[in-house]
Amino acid sequence: MISLWPSLEALPDSPYAAELRKQPAGARFAAPVEGEYLRSRLREDRALVRFTCTLALLLMALRGSESLASALRSSSVLPVFAVALGCSIVLAWLAWSRSYEQRYLPWATVLVPLRNCLIAAQIIHVAAAGEYDLLMLLPMLLIGPFYFLGLKYHTSLLTAVCTLASLVGAAIVFPLPLAMALRGGTLLLVSTVVLAIAARQIEKRLRQAFLENRVVAELAQQDALTWTKNRRVFDEYLPRLWRQAVSDERLLAILVIDVDQFKPYNDRYGHQAGDAVLRRVALAIQQQARRPLDLVARYGGEEFAVILYDTDAAGAGGTAEHMRRAVEELAIEHRESASGNVVTISIGAAVVSPTAGRNAFGALQLADEALYRAKSRGRNRIELMDDSEYRLMVTGVFAKGELSELRR
Ligand code: GH3
Ligand code: MG
Ligand code: MG
Repeated sequence: MISLWPSLEALPDSPYAAELRKQPAGARFAAPVEGEYLRSRLREDRALVRFTCTLALLLMALRGSESLASALRSSSVLPVFAVALGCSIVLAWLAWSRSYEQRYLPWATVLVPLRNCLIAAQIIHVAAAGEYDLLMLLPMLLIGPFYFLGLKYHTSLLTAVCTLASLVGAAIVFPLPLAMALRGGTLLLVSTVVLAIAARQIEKRLRQAFLENRVVAELAQQDALTWTKNRRVFDEYLPRLWRQAVSDERLLAILVIDVDQFKPYNDRYGHQAGDAVLRRVALAIQQQARRPLDLVARYGGEEFAVILYDTDAAGAGGTAEHMRRAVEELAIEHRESASGNVVTISIGAAVVSPTAGRNAFGALQLADEALYRAKSRGRNRIELMDDSEYRLMVTGVFAKGELSELRR
């Protein structure tokens, strides 16, 4: 069957695509992606962690105290039980607390292995008094750490090893008949191997699914031909950044870029060659707008729109000029062009100070007007409009009559 899974080539800068390309899958990711993966797992596991921690606490408080009551009353293991109960209380509290995402995992990494050791030691202590059936509970101790407590895989393994070590130690101290100690140890060892293999498989699938989800989300934002952001992203991003600029009192620059005389280019060199030009032009433009809040999108056909945050007229003019020159320097032959023998672009730039009374798409319209002006003044050039021209706009719509004046 032919796979319809899109090629990862379209995401050259994506850290998720880079991880997906790596083999074998399931290993630790590189630093920022690994952190993001762990945080997302922690969030997704939260309901399960809450449920398990609460259940563990209840079991400790009720069944635990009940079944161990006779041993506790007469023995010195009461402090051990108290510490294990304390661990359960802290874990349950963290699972429900507001600081769950910051504090649960570091604490659980210490408290879960500790609690397991203490419970294993208690089980051996009671079993040593003749209650050998209790040894059957040992494998149960590992299910939570491997599957339900939101721990990292290696912490689960560490917990299993600690539990086993505790069993060996307790079997010597209390002491447990050798045959019974071997029975308990074997049970625990076999369960560890089986649970670890299964947990590893689940971990691999979760990691793969995490990367695929992120890659699909990135592809959904991307223009298929030019690999810039697509129109939907632009339309959603512009008003959002506008609101941020209003509250931060920052300038916003919008550039609308159009390839000059592109129809004649297609007519002469063919549509496929035209597509290749759009890709190269897009890349050249993108390389000039790489700050975190900048956005380059394919606005439609052979038009691109760029948003530059906190950029004044000098900055916008400079960036636009770099873009214009970068495209010209690609030196893509265009014999039908009246503005030289190479492919060129015209850029309309609007630099505005966003205020509550104006709107983002009005600023875009201003940039569009500037583009018209660049086209009518000969192409392969930049025209910039700023707040002084904005007075001609009424909440994002040019005042009648004055538009034609602007277009001159
Ligand atoms: P101007 O300098 O005034 O912008 O002239 P122009 O010919 O570029 O303007 P016009 O809007 O008339 O033509 C745009 C052309 O862009 C029409 C179409 O052939 C071409 N075009 C739009 N989208 C694509 C695309 O995805 N691939 C290719 N190859 N061409 C496209
Ligand atoms: Mg056009
Ligand atoms: Mg054009």
